Amino acid sequence: MDNANEPMSCHQALKIVHGLFYGGLGLLLLAWAVLSLSKKTVPVPAVVLCILGIVGVVSGIVLAYARLRCPHCGASLMLGGRIPSSLPNFCPDCGKPLE
Ligand SMILES: [Zn+2]
Repeated sequence: MDNANEPMSCHQALKIVHGLFYGGLGLLLLAWAVLSLSKKTVPVPAVVLCILGIVGVVSGIVLAYARLRCPHCGASLMLGGRIPSSLPNFCPDCGKPLE
């Protein structure tokens, strides 16, 4: 971790947010698949997958709210509370280029 002290750019933040969010969704899907395969009892691995998935999705959303911001004016880059699939080239608030 060489650049631990450098501020995270919003593009890096978006990559991490996507990894957490979609990784979490994937785990939830996997948990759902395991649950639907087992008829009788709730298997422990499915519960673990479910918890990990929820943690991933929630931390992705929290990180998005905290870090997906314009470096110039601090405006949130969330699209109406949703995680954007990609960042705009320019800040919608102050119009400066996002790098
Ligand atoms: Zn801005």
